[in-house]
Amino acid sequence: MNGKMKAVQITEPGKFQVASIDIPKPQHGEVLAEIKSVAICGSDPNILNGKVLKNGWPPYYPFVAGHEFAACVIELGEAVTTLKVGDRVAGEAHCGCGTCEMCMQGYYNLCLNYGNSTAGHHHYGHNTSGCYAQYQVYDQKALTLLPDNVSYDEGALVDTAGTAYNALKLTGVEPGGYTAVIGPGPMGLMSMALAKTMSSKTIVIGRRERLQVAKKLGADYIIDFEKVDDPVEEVRKLTDGLGAHQVIECAGNATAYFEAVQMTRKHGHVALISIPGGDGQEMALKSMIMNQITLHGVRANPNCSKSVLDLISQGGLDIKSLITHIYSIDKIHDAFDTFINRKDGAVKVIIHPND
Ligand SMILES: [Zn+2]
Ligand SMILES: [Zn+2]
Repeated sequence: MNGKMKAVQITEPGKFQVASIDIPKPQHGEVLAEIKSVAICGSDPNILNGKVLKNGWPPYYPFVAGHEFAACVIELGEAVTTLKVGDRVAGEAHCGCGTCEMCMQGYYNLCLNYGNSTAGHHHYGHNTSGCYAQYQVYDQKALTLLPDNVSYDEGALVDTAGTAYNALKLTGVEPGGYTAVIGPGPMGLMSMALAKTMSSKTIVIGRRERLQVAKKLGADYIIDFEKVDDPVEEVRKLTDGLGAHQVIECAGNATAYFEAVQMTRKHGHVALISIPGGDGQEMALKSMIMNQITLHGVRANPNCSKSVLDLISQGGLDIKSLITHIYSIDKIHDAFDTFINRKDGAVKVIIHPND
């Protein structure tokens, strides 16, 4: 397909605008996708301002970010075997080279060819163009078919849900235990919802409106850290003095990293999803060693999209409740303002690039 499309271009750190640019051409193994729904990720504001994460995101300017999306396949490049025109798909940010040691083991989120597009690696919306656009090209490996009864908007949340699912899987969550979640943002709320689906009792630690959202979405217990002396002690009170079986850290501050370990029971598991702003040297090392706690770094969502989509399709995960706002691409500044400043109870804010 030839022609122009609207895309949100970051032109310099902190500045972005809707521009008219060429529709890209799918190459070997790629498809052209018409982007139907994009969810703003908690990491997107940091990519927009280009300074906080210091990971080379974006790698150049102008750059098109965005990585949480659902789309319709409208054109195939050469050697596409898993998709056809008209397929409805959900996307993932990570596309590994497919041949390195990590990719061969299924950990394509840890591809040893990170940043090497010639080798086939892409981190869409981070070091390769992303989905804040009407169209984008994607490697077929980065796309998963949407079940018929799962909407594009739900599909756009599969990246977040998959990362929460990856965190819980890494902790080895089992039914009947306690899962504590620190930070009831979109990722924390998703982790809570998934932990409930897995028959774990949930304790969410946060404050103000977002904590009330957690309660509304079904958290068994909530702890407002502004209203208690010690959240760790409160978690212990709820768990027969032992602490949670698994703690999912989604707040990204030094206190949260420290308390995540402190509120975990002996031989329990901590999953860290937030990327720390600083050097991340804030762990409670002594507690971790003395209580033989296992710490899991969680990077994205390898091999999780299909499981999460099946769960949504089967009615096991209500993902729609997290969507609070929908904007057209022309209102991108309003959309980010709503998301960043949590206006009107914003949780997941969606863009429809083709409306
Ligand atoms: Zn994301
Ligand atoms: Zn690889």
